[in-house]
Amino acid sequence: MKEVTGKQKYVLPFAALVTACGAVACIFSAYNFPLAKFDLGLLLLALLTVLLGSRLTMQLPSAKVHVSVSDTLIFIILLLYGGEAAVLIAAAEALYTSFRFRSRGITIRFDGVLFNAALMACSTFLSAWALRSSLGSAIIPLQADNVALLTAVCVMALVQYAASTSLAAIYTACEANQGVWTTWNKKYFPTSLTYFAGAATATGLVTLKGLIGFYAVIATATAVTISYLTLRRYINDLKASVSQAEQAEHARAEVERARAEQAERHVDELNHYVAELKRTTDELQTSKEHFRHAAFHDALTNLPNRALFTDHLKLAIERTKRQPGHNFAVLFMDLDRFKNINDSLGHIYGDQLLVAISQRLKGCLRQVDVIARLGGDEFAVLLDGFTEPNDVLRVAEKIQKAISEPLTIDRNEAFTSASIGIALSSTGYERPEDVLRDADTAMYRAKDGGKARHEIFDEVMYARAVSLLNLENDLRRAIERQEFEVYYQPIVTLKTGGVCGFEALLRWQHPTRGMISPAEFIPLAEETGLIIPLGQWVLEESCRQMREWHEQSLANRMLTVSVNLSGKQLSRDDLCQQIKLILERTGLDPRSLKLEITESVVMDNADLAINMLQQLHNLGIQLSIDDFGTGYSSLSYLHRFPVNNLKIDRSFISRMGLGDENLEIVRTIIMLARNLGMEVIAEGIETKEQLAQLRALSCSFGQGYLFSVPLDAESAVALIRQVQQNAAALPSPADAPRDGDSKYLYSSLVM
Ligand code: C2E
Ligand code: MG
Ligand code: MG
Repeated sequence: MKEVTGKQKYVLPFAALVTACGAVACIFSAYNFPLAKFDLGLLLLALLTVLLGSRLTMQLPSAKVHVSVSDTLIFIILLLYGGEAAVLIAAAEALYTSFRFRSRGITIRFDGVLFNAALMACSTFLSAWALRSSLGSAIIPLQADNVALLTAVCVMALVQYAASTSLAAIYTACEANQGVWTTWNKKYFPTSLTYFAGAATATGLVTLKGLIGFYAVIATATAVTISYLTLRRYINDLKASVSQAEQAEHARAEVERARAEQAERHVDELNHYVAELKRTTDELQTSKEHFRHAAFHDALTNLPNRALFTDHLKLAIERTKRQPGHNFAVLFMDLDRFKNINDSLGHIYGDQLLVAISQRLKGCLRQVDVIARLGGDEFAVLLDGFTEPNDVLRVAEKIQKAISEPLTIDRNEAFTSASIGIALSSTGYERPEDVLRDADTAMYRAKDGGKARHEIFDEVMYARAVSLLNLENDLRRAIERQEFEVYYQPIVTLKTGGVCGFEALLRWQHPTRGMISPAEFIPLAEETGLIIPLGQWVLEESCRQMREWHEQSLANRMLTVSVNLSGKQLSRDDLCQQIKLILERTGLDPRSLKLEITESVVMDNADLAINMLQQLHNLGIQLSIDDFGTGYSSLSYLHRFPVNNLKIDRSFISRMGLGDENLEIVRTIIMLARNLGMEVIAEGIETKEQLAQLRALSCSFGQGYLFSVPLDAESAVALIRQVQQNAAALPSPADAPRDGDSKYLYSSLVM
């Protein structure tokens, strides 16, 4: 419920008082109603007032004043039929209007309805009383002069105005809790005009009645009402068009403003775009230069790269063709042991070293010579235009001397050296890549020759390079033509002489060159990446073969197969997955597979190897370190590898008989392996003496020509049978045996 504050508490008493006064006025009027005067005209006027009056209001243009037709009609009634009729009809009209508003949903409380009716009754009563006082009669005398009429109009309007507006103002002010004067001044003062207008119209019409008769007045009033309605319509239309025009004007102004804003924005955007374009064009220009530089230079040393070097070389070749007697030389340089430095001291250190080396190279050369970094630790130098080949050798020596000077990086002293291969234009080159290839070949010769040297490319090298190239092509085709075969060399339990397994060794039956040693083609297969499909094939074939042997007899189930893995295979992420698939396909128990990895491969990539070996170990596969003793095993690493076997390299076994020192090495390796919980396999046992020595050292397993050369699968099966039949005969180790030589098949059974 709304809280009642201040003047609001007077609303109800005031309304009650006015209502009571109104009721008194109505009762008094009804009581004194001159019934004799009642006629059709009054009935007509009463109906007109009640039903039409309040509906017909007109707001005067540009004023907040409404002229109500009912006011005019009540004035007419007052003037023609006296105050009593006017009071009753006014009250009835107010009642009717209030109820009409209520029925339209406008909230007017019932006491409000009564108050409105009472207010009309009171104010009409007062105005009738005032009229009577001024004219002596409530009914206007037909012959009244102009002054009397004017007085009547003024008194009637003034009293009606004063009474109704003051009562309404008091009520509204109390309800809104505001000052009465303020409310009246604001809301009701401007309405005075309507009362005078209404009173004047009424007086005019009543005067007309005397001249033209009552019904003519009604007709005139109807005509006036119609004109009035037309006028109202016209005024409303006018207002609507004015408002439309205003709206249109407003909309136009809005559009103009939006357009102006948009145009302004557009100009801004355009300016921004132009600025942006300029900025990006500048940037593009800069980055174009940047890209061009980056495309032809090495990011680390800022030296020309291979692409730029090749361009220079192309020009040099052209020049030698155009100018007979003009010579050039390309020096292909590779740092020795850079990989070790990089691995042990880190890449950042390695990078600093490369930058320092590039500075030293520049110091050894003329301005016209081109130095490039081809990648990694490879540099190339183009000496364009020299007179004597000796000059080239002197430059190579100068470079080697400069590079072998100790370098201090981060307070660490580093020592390095370079191997240099030289290609001379006298060979008659057509293409830059040929020059680089030959210089590269010569560099490898220099490395093979003991490093820190230089080597000039010559005919022999060329022939070798060509044959290597041919071999590479043959190797590619050999896989498709299935020229490979796996041979099996037995691994023997030294104590018993029994065969515990086989090492799978790859053989290449070349169509014209006959059997080619893996020592010859495996490095080439590694270099060209062919080792991946080849290695996979060996694995699959060996596993398949061993599985077949397992199925042949129960005794065979103890046999294992050892397969060699290359470093390239080991660095493949999918190796484990591949091996797993092969084991699944062939059905071989993982425990029957041993993988051999050369010591240097394991040690050179220790971290990577540990991870991969662990994965393989987890598959249940056994692991062996092959050619042990040839690499530089770090003992700190060795115990971290999940390795089961150490295979002592053949070179130690063959030297055992030559002196105590060699025997001691083998003894130490066997002890070391035992301490690390590994089994030892001695490779390359060729003599009974070696066998005896190894047995004395408690070496568990062995492999070598003394027992058997590597055999094809068929011969290996025969060997297994023979071992199982326990046949005996001693091999003669005198002649160098060949693969598949049956004379050695049964050697193992002798012991
Ligand atoms: P390896 O793994 O150390 O294999 C032993 C090598 O010693 C074999 O040479 C074998 O024939 C030879 N050998 C065995 N007993 C004796 C002996 O009493 N006296 C002498 N002088 N030699 C003996 P092979 O078959 O020529 O293989 C050479 C190397 O090629 C292997 O050394 C191995 O590293 C590699 N290799 C062979 N097959 C494969 C293969 O399938 N994959 C990979 N990655 N490498 C292989
Ligand atoms: Mg091996
Ligand atoms: Mg070996």
